[in-house]
Amino acid sequence: MSSERRFIPYSRQEVSAEDIAAVTAVLQSDFLTQGPVTPQFEHAFAQRHGAAHALAVANATAGLHMACLAFGVGPGSLVWTSPNSFLASANCALYCGADIDFVDIDPATRNMGLAALAAKLEQAKQRGRLPDVVIPVDFAGLPCDLREMRGLADRYGFRIVEDASHATGAAYEGQPVGSRHADITVFSLHAVKIITAGEGGMLTTADAEIAERLRLLRSHGMVRDAGQFTGAQQGGWVYEQQLLGFNYRMTEIQAALGLSQLQRLDALQARRQQMADRYDRLLADLPLILPARVPRRTSAWHLYVVEIDGSRTPVARAEVFDRMRAAGIGVHVHYIPIHTQPFYRARGFSAGDFPLAERYYQRALTLPLHPGLTQDDQQYVVDSLRSALAG
Ligand SMILES: *Cc1c(COP(=O)(O)O)cnc(C)c1O
Repeated sequence: MSSERRFIPYSRQEVSAEDIAAVTAVLQSDFLTQGPVTPQFEHAFAQRHGAAHALAVANATAGLHMACLAFGVGPGSLVWTSPNSFLASANCALYCGADIDFVDIDPATRNMGLAALAAKLEQAKQRGRLPDVVIPVDFAGLPCDLREMRGLADRYGFRIVEDASHATGAAYEGQPVGSRHADITVFSLHAVKIITAGEGGMLTTADAEIAERLRLLRSHGMVRDAGQFTGAQQGGWVYEQQLLGFNYRMTEIQAALGLSQLQRLDALQARRQQMADRYDRLLADLPLILPARVPRRTSAWHLYVVEIDGSRTPVARAEVFDRMRAAGIGVHVHYIPIHTQPFYRARGFSAGDFPLAERYYQRALTLPLHPGLTQDDQQYVVDSLRSALAG
C-alpha cells in the first residue's frame, strides 16, 4: 500500500497558474529589484493585516534582526523568547551582541507562558535587570497572549517583537495578528509557511517612526530623499548613510509571488482550518493530546502538532516517528527546545532549565497539514498513526 503512495510532506507550498504568471511578468519587466511590485505587496499585506505600515524583507530572520536593532538592542541588552521556537527567534538577539534568555511555555497552548513571563519579570525587576525586548512566538499559528503581554510590556518597559512566522492571517480577539499590541510583528514567507515568496518576510508596525527606522536598516542605513538629509545638498546624485544598515530587501520576483499568494490567503486558511477540524474528529479516540482551541483566537494552522500521551500508550514518540516515516509520511518534530542546542549549551544553558518545553518536545509529533493534502491522504495519515500507536 505505502509503496504505491507518494511521500506526504508535513508542509508544501501551493503555486497556482496566477502565481507563475505574476512572477513571469516581473521577469519581463524593467525591475527585478526595487520596482513597483514590492510596495504593492506591502500595501496589500498591511491592508489584510490591519497594519499602518508593512515592510517586505529578505526573510523573517532578517526581519527579527532588524526589529531588535530598531529598538537599540546591542551589547548589554537582554532579549527573552520562547524555547519552543525555531532557532532564529533567539539568534536574532545574538546577532546584535545582546544576551538571550527564555521563558518556559504554557503546556496547553505551547506558546510562551503568561504566568511564567509575569513571574520572571518580577524576579528580574528585583535583580535589577529587565529585558529590553521580549519575542513571543505564535506557535503553530495560534496567537499568544497579546493583550496581557502588552500590559506587562507597559508595566515593565520592554518592547514586544511578535514572531508571527507561523501566523499569517491569524486573528486575535477578532483583529488580524499584526494589527495591534506588539510593537513590531514579524511574518515569514518561507516555502513551508502559510503563504510564500520563496524566501521572504514581512514586518508590520503601527508606529511611523519605527517603520522609518526599519526602512533605513533594510537598505544600508541609507536615504536618497533630499528632505531627509542631515548634511549639505551637493547635487542630485547624493545619498546619505545615517546608520549601519544591511541589504535585507525583498526582490520583485519574490514580491510578485507573495502578492499573488496573498490573494488566496483566505481560501488557503479556510482549507487549513477544515483539515485541522477533521484531524480533531478523526484522532479523538487515540492516546494523543490534540492542539488547544482558545476562545477568540483563530489559528493560522501552520502546524498540526499532537503529543503522544505516554499514560495511554506504551509506544514512544521516536518509535511512532519512525513508523510514520516508513509509511511514507513526512511527520516532523517542532521544536527541539532552543536552549538544548549545543551552541546554546555552550553559552550556559542546560537541559532542565525549561522543563515544560522539554516535556512537550519529548512527546510532540507534527502531522502533515497543507493545502495540497487530500481527504484520502489525511485518512491514510490517521490510519497509519492508529496502527503505529497500537504497537
Ligand atoms: C520560519 C521561522 C523563522 C524564520 O523564518 P525565515 O523566513 O525562514 O527566516 C523564524 N521564526 C519562526 C518561529 C519560524 O517558524
